[in-house]
Amino acid sequence: MSKETAATTTQVSDKTLTEATTWENFKRLMSYAKPYKVGFIAAILGMLGYAGVDTLFFSQLQPLIDEGLSGANPNFMKWAPLFVIVCFIVRGICHFVGNYCLAWVGNNVVADIRQNLFEHIMSLPVAFHDKESTGSLISKLTFDTEQVLQATSKALITLIQQGAFVLGLLIVMFYKSWELSAIFLLITPIIAVIVTIVSKRFRSVSKSIQSAMGQVTSAAEQTFNAHKVVLTCDGQEREYKRFNQINKHNRQQRMKLVATSSASVPIIQIIASFALAFVLYVANLESMKATLTPGIFITVITCMTMLLRPLKQLTTVNSEFQNGMAASVSIFRVLDEAKEKDSGVIHITKAKGSLAFNNVSFSYKNDKDLALKNISFEVNPGETTAFVGRSGSGKSTASSLLLRFYDATSGEVLIDGKDITQYKLQELRKQFAYVSQQVVLFNDTLANNIAYGNPNATEEEIRAAAKSAHVLEFAEKMPDGLNTNVGENGALLSGGQRQRVAIARALLCDAPFLILDEATSALDTESERHIQDALQILQQNRTCIVIAHRLSTIESADNIIVMDQGEIIEQGDHKSLLEKEGAYAQLHRFQFS
Ligand code: ADP
Ligand code: MG
Repeated sequence: MSKETAATTTQVSDKTLTEATTWENFKRLMSYAKPYKVGFIAAILGMLGYAGVDTLFFSQLQPLIDEGLSGANPNFMKWAPLFVIVCFIVRGICHFVGNYCLAWVGNNVVADIRQNLFEHIMSLPVAFHDKESTGSLISKLTFDTEQVLQATSKALITLIQQGAFVLGLLIVMFYKSWELSAIFLLITPIIAVIVTIVSKRFRSVSKSIQSAMGQVTSAAEQTFNAHKVVLTCDGQEREYKRFNQINKHNRQQRMKLVATSSASVPIIQIIASFALAFVLYVANLESMKATLTPGIFITVITCMTMLLRPLKQLTTVNSEFQNGMAASVSIFRVLDEAKEKDSGVIHITKAKGSLAFNNVSFSYKNDKDLALKNISFEVNPGETTAFVGRSGSGKSTASSLLLRFYDATSGEVLIDGKDITQYKLQELRKQFAYVSQQVVLFNDTLANNIAYGNPNATEEEIRAAAKSAHVLEFAEKMPDGLNTNVGENGALLSGGQRQRVAIARALLCDAPFLILDEATSALDTESERHIQDALQILQQNRTCIVIAHRLSTIESADNIIVMDQGEIIEQGDHKSLLEKEGAYAQLHRFQFS
């Protein structure tokens, strides 16, 4: 259900972006090139110079034949060798300047967009990350930005350089013989029509390639991540088949693009050959023979032939350009997603530690499906509140609201008596140390993983935290101790070891609030008892929210909240809840029988 709504909203915004405005997208892309204006202008001058020299070269064809080679003007042949060398030196310099400067601008623009996109993705709300797959985001960051580079450089270089060359050749042709050249103009509209049809097709196909490529990465990534699940559930065949389908779809889209581009070039050339044939026919007419010198005839024919190549390139450049535009649309779509709301103005350095939920309701999907219903409770500074209840009852959701991963749909969450939306977001989150059921570790050393929340921590502090959280115990058995690399997402550690690293990280954070969301769920009872004292240290002088499925760990909590289907059904301390003989007592009996 949520996937479906996400897909339709994506489509709608996609549509408005592409249809409204290829031009506006292009302008937006060019705005990234603004800081590199000087390089851009140099590149354009280089390209124009290159085309100019080429045009000049061909304009000298007619005097070469009619004056030089015929011997009418001996001076011409004297200067011709020098002219050739100077032309090619200038042309070479222009070529270098044009290419180099454009690459400089293009690579800078891509690096900027990539950085921009990376930072923007990190600042998007958690809800965005819930619905978007990591694979497609990575593909945007790598593949799509690369496509944009092709658009900014390859398309522009062809467009400006070849465009200017075409213009130059046309001027030379018309100057030498407008009658012959006019024939050329006759076929231009036909070519234009074909180009429009082809470019429309390109745009739709290259857009589907983008999403097909995203599907390939995200399908592969998902399966690789679930490698062990696939093995144990004997899912290889199914995964092969599924991937095969996506792979095939991607191939088909690419072949469609190839088919369009391969067909468009010969069609345009065939049409051009008709024009050439017609010129030959007209040149033979009696009325033309009078004004045509061999030089003029060769110049016009040469210019027409020379026009074919740049014209061909100008048609393929459109596909590059459309590719790039499709890619930039997919990037802009992410850049246009609203960032996390941070309208808070109140500074908070270290909270006193009181916390309250006031009639809080919350829904993930903005509908009636409430994950939390009218939750109210209070926690005084230094107290520990425990949440218990079946899985799916909304315990983790409540802790997510505290960290403002999501905002309450109605009601308010208070810290030190003020609504948390009034605090500056970054400072608010600094008030929390959070150990969740899914430990996330970086592909880095144990020490750096522990110090992630407090990069300025000294080695002794890290060691002390590692000792309290019983990380040292296993770290000392490793080859490099705390400097051992833990592998991607801590692959070299057991579940329990990872949780201990996470607890050490929280210890080092030294925040006034502590959230333990089933922080010890991956530990066996023995190890759990073992680090219970570490947790006890962690809980001292802090306001704590402890979510636990093992009731033995929360008996000493000041307040125990029993949740069911998003609602609080009981609250009180261990003793009073047992006496009440309600849901908690039942859970307790169940676990200890
Ligand atoms: P608990 O931590 O008590 O096991 P949760 O707070 O994780 O429960 O989940 C409460 C309810 O919210 C569940 O019905 C779950 O399906 C739903 N839920 C949790 N996370 C999300 C999410 N990111 N998007 C949509 N629904 C979610
Ligand atoms: Mg949970």
